[in-house]
Amino acid sequence: LSERLQGTLKKVTGQSQLTEQNMEEMLREIRLALLEADVNYEVVKDFIAKTKEKALGADVLGSLKPGQVVVKIVHDELVELLGTDVSTVDFSKKPTIIMMVGLQGSGKTTTTGKIAKRIKEKDGKKPLLVAADIYRPAAVEQLKTIGQQVDVEVFSEGTDVSAEKIVTDALDHAKENHNDVILIDTAGRLQIDQPLMEELKHLKDIAHPDEILLVVDSLAGQEIANVASSFNDQLGITGAVLTKLDGDSRGGGAISIRYLTHVPIKYIGTGEKLDQIDLFYPDRMAERILGMGDVVSLVEKVQDVYDEKESMKAFNKMQRGTFGLDDMLVQMKQLKKMGPLSGILKMLPGMPKMPKIDDDEANDRLKETESMILSMTLEERQHPEIINMKRRERIAKGSGKSVADVNRLLKQFEQSKKMMKQLSNIDPTTGMMTQKP
Ligand code: GDP
Ligand code: MG
Repeated sequence: LSERLQGTLKKVTGQSQLTEQNMEEMLREIRLALLEADVNYEVVKDFIAKTKEKALGADVLGSLKPGQVVVKIVHDELVELLGTDVSTVDFSKKPTIIMMVGLQGSGKTTTTGKIAKRIKEKDGKKPLLVAADIYRPAAVEQLKTIGQQVDVEVFSEGTDVSAEKIVTDALDHAKENHNDVILIDTAGRLQIDQPLMEELKHLKDIAHPDEILLVVDSLAGQEIANVASSFNDQLGITGAVLTKLDGDSRGGGAISIRYLTHVPIKYIGTGEKLDQIDLFYPDRMAERILGMGDVVSLVEKVQDVYDEKESMKAFNKMQRGTFGLDDMLVQMKQLKKMGPLSGILKMLPGMPKMPKIDDDEANDRLKETESMILSMTLEERQHPEIINMKRRERIAKGSGKSVADVNRLLKQFEQSKKMMKQLSNIDPTTGMMTQKP
């Protein structure tokens, strides 16, 4: 448990009785811990209300070790919510057909390769990977490369054929070749859109998958809730994969997914390498999520907590010199959320008169920027200085942009880093620049 939570726990435990008041205090800490872990705020609200009800119903008021009782109730509730048992994919059917879905950059293609490698080595299966993301030539190439790395066959018909036909042909091919697991790698978008959903529905009708696994980037924060509900409402997912848990996400997305869709989380991704996949252990996750509640903030409004946290993160990273491209993207989105970009820019002190910025254009820019950043590895995002010519070409290909676009993005990053530095020298009380050596 986090220090703060432990502090409260001690205080409450020291008191001989659990009162409704000190229970409120504990639940407030737990609420902060969950929000800090990026659990969706609606979910947190509900979870806390239910837990409180349970705690009261369990008649723990006045019990001997009241603090521990509450923490135990919270922990058990979390574990129950997360699934109690380890849940796996059933590969007994021949063939087992699995469709991988999710937003662009969530880790679908990588996870497809990871699962193939795992079941091939662990269970002696003969999987077939199907390249059904026809919108980016690089996506087909990426799957082929991964297929080679894990020594598993990849079925592809390029990008000129419809995804529906590719899947139909792949099923025939798998029958002839006696593949016992078929993994279909589908296209994603940066944001959920209806055409994508329609295509995925068609693929579902054709493939009759035994599993539809939603791949979710654990770093996507509050957005996870929306993604999980939309995909589940439209496609009826059977499980989820939470990727990038090697990053600094607390994994709160797991709770949002479970709470909103009730499907089990079947795998987690713990790195870019193809053996960095694991099953999902609910108790470990509950501890990870609860253990991170050390954000000290008295701000009551949930949304404020979130926004302030994001900008503080960026600010701290600036000061430590670890501000990366991911952070820039968060900042850009933040600005966008605050309203028309042109208005915000005008508010900045010392800003020269700006030409009028078209917000539609700004939106398009943001999307392009996002798709380029998503095509980078985590290391590249954090250390853009390592992005040499070869990497630029790969990023350009992966995002469907030109090398010149990537160059522009990197230049823009340098500029925004400079600007952030200047802004961080502004004294908030006077609005004047402070001189720093
Ligand atoms: P897709 O667009 O959904 O197919 O996503 P990709 O599989 O192409 O993955 C996008 C990026 O995320 C790539 O740079 C991957 O290497 C990276 N990635 C995927 N899973 C993980 C993970 O578990 N950990 C880390 N650190 N990176 C991952
Ligand atoms: Mg992909």
